[in-house]
Amino acid sequence: MLAVIVSQNSALLRHLSATPFRRVDIDLHIAATGEEAVAISQQVSPAVAILDAEMPVLSGYEAARRIKSDCPDCRVVLILGKRISGEQLRQVSETGCDEVLIAPMSADELYDVVALQLGLPRRGSEAFTVTPAVIMNDGDRAIDGQVTNLSVDGVRMVVPEPLSEGTRLRLTIRQEGDARPIEITGQVVWAQEGDGETTIGASFEDLDPETRSRLARLTQWDLLQEADRIRVVIKGDITEASSFDDLVPLLVGRVDFDLSQVSYINSLGVREWISFLRKANIQGYEMHACSVPFILQAAVIPSMVGRGTVVSFFAPYYCESCDHHADRLLQSAAVLAAGYQPPMLPCPECGESMELDDIPERYLGFLQPDELAD
Ligand SMILES: [Zn+2]
Repeated sequence: MLAVIVSQNSALLRHLSATPFRRVDIDLHIAATGEEAVAISQQVSPAVAILDAEMPVLSGYEAARRIKSDCPDCRVVLILGKRISGEQLRQVSETGCDEVLIAPMSADELYDVVALQLGLPRRGSEAFTVTPAVIMNDGDRAIDGQVTNLSVDGVRMVVPEPLSEGTRLRLTIRQEGDARPIEITGQVVWAQEGDGETTIGASFEDLDPETRSRLARLTQWDLLQEADRIRVVIKGDITEASSFDDLVPLLVGRVDFDLSQVSYINSLGVREWISFLRKANIQGYEMHACSVPFILQAAVIPSMVGRGTVVSFFAPYYCESCDHHADRLLQSAAVLAAGYQPPMLPCPECGESMELDDIPERYLGFLQPDELAD
């Protein structure tokens, strides 16, 4: 069970009992004052503390600072109001808190931050294993192979033996929590030998519609139906090989995109994505936890976001003291509230401050001032 301390705040308490948190075993401790939060933290060594900056008796800032010094492993998320002054920003970075969120936020936004801090799995990122075999005349021969890219069209793999073009392969894909494996056959179309291993590209033979759709959900997108909206998790590379056509008819009403697993986008992928957003007949959509490759494109091509709103996104951060690089999840509202200033965050390695490793005006180019309105 994860011990969590939270300020007595009805919105936060509601979020912690909402859908995304239901799969986490939480031992919840409610603190009415900052002093209580510190006292509880000394008894339960919490995994995470979610604190209102403005708490009675002892402020959230001071409580955060004391909790971080008593239990350095506790992740502290500080909740601030809609406008942040320079003085507040300074206080935030002095507390050593791990994340900042601006209220009001949704249960999803809170979950994304907590899940990331605690290393919990993201929804729609269930693990799968791929077992490759070479198809021989007299049956299959299992091979070792490390899959570096898997899509509905084919696979890229590193194998510790020479394999020639034309070799026929069978892949067995087992997904966590799904008893029925996916079986696919394909053929090596290119092979590159070097250093005792071979990198191969294989294309799949015609997939039946069911297999194709199961593979698409594993490698390209997944749908999670939630109470009042659909959550669409986009995965992997977006290139000319990507196709979201199967997704379009499934999207109705409100849609949240989770873009944390987008690993790469090329210019043809940009085109595919924009045309998908135009075709999708959805009322309104939000983009959550956008990956760095997605934001790098959106920063120069506003249509990547379309009529949607970026709620949160990853940004490359750098620690000058110890050379540590990490992608950090930022909430758009927090950046906007601070006047486009990306927050300084403590380095998990050395505790010094980490800063955005890009030019803020460029990286944050996708944030439109009108997002301040709501
Ligand atoms: Zn550092």
